[in-house]
Amino acid sequence: MPGRWQRVYAERTQRANQDVFRRANERLLAAVRDVIDDARPIPFLCECLDPDCRSTVELSIEQFRDMREVDNRYAIVTGHPTMNGERPVEVDGDVTIVQKP
Ligand SMILES: [Zn+2]
Repeated sequence: MPGRWQRVYAERTQRANQDVFRRANERLLAAVRDVIDDARPIPFLCECLDPDCRSTVELSIEQFRDMREVDNRYAIVTGHPTMNGERPVEVDGDVTIVQKP
């Protein structure tokens, strides 16, 4: 059984990891938004908790923007690990949108 602080530390690392993916995705969006049609699917990075995850989720620019309009929403591959308390708000095939508490 991991101790309380170990757990807190692990969760912090995972959170930092999610933020890295989140920022990478925002840079990707900024790079493509003027050259790619809003409705065309783009492979964004999965924003799940696994630091080694290199999967992608296909979202159109439109879908990505809709998701980011709500605070604390992330896109992950369906079935990938989420943090305690996160809940799926939308499942569309391989893509799950999760809401943080
Ligand atoms: Zn993942």
